[in-house]
Amino acid sequence: MKAQDKHPHVRGFGMASARSRARLIERLRSLGIEDESVLAAMGRVQRHQFVDEAMTSRAYDDTALPIGYGQTISQPYIVAQMTRLLIADGVPDNVLEIGTGSGYQGAVLAELIANVYTVERIEPLYQRVRRRFVELGYRNVRARLAREDVLGLPDYGPFDAILVTAGAETLPTSLYEQMADGARMVVPVGASGNQHLIVVHRDGDQFSQETLDAVSFVPLIEQRD
Ligand code: SAH
Repeated sequence: MKAQDKHPHVRGFGMASARSRARLIERLRSLGIEDESVLAAMGRVQRHQFVDEAMTSRAYDDTALPIGYGQTISQPYIVAQMTRLLIADGVPDNVLEIGTGSGYQGAVLAELIANVYTVERIEPLYQRVRRRFVELGYRNVRARLAREDVLGLPDYGPFDAILVTAGAETLPTSLYEQMADGARMVVPVGASGNQHLIVVHRDGDQFSQETLDAVSFVPLIEQRD
């Protein structure tokens, strides 16, 4: 059974969604996303499966949309940009996403990367995504509920790449120990209204960083010990 057959509200939306997705991919291209593997991955993931029924018709707009609990599914352009940055030096074997949200970014990563872990702190979002990944047949993305005491998933690392999809006030250096040698991390950093994407590279014990595009993410809730 195809995934969409299990969702009566999107039955009949299949063809329309394929056309809308193709238009979205053309938009990403026109905005300067050139990585064909990223464009192809985003062409395969059905974003309408990751939003509420009421949002189905807007699922392929290039905008963030509410997913409940004060959180949002990220704008497709930002998903494309972050994914591109994450694989720019070669495709990592394993990746950690912090901030599962709707599961959409995790699904895009799962199209490209063999082993994907994604962690979420809001339990109902986590539960919903677990069901969604099973229904949609994603086997290489593992959703986990965040621990209260620590950021990330120290028990499963180190990771070749880390993607943080919530905005940190300051660079979350506590994640450095979850980065394997040669790993990179893509993370939005800065006070609300002044956030930028930062890419951190690990080379042995050296960590270097580049600051890129201005972005706007919901806050990363930093656990304290
Ligand atoms: N990547 C998501 C969008 C993320 S919205 C998508 O594709 O839909 C940011 C998410 O990060 C929210 O769901 C929020 O609850 C979660 N979050 C914030 N702080 C977190 C933390 N410390 N650990 C895990 N998840 C966190």
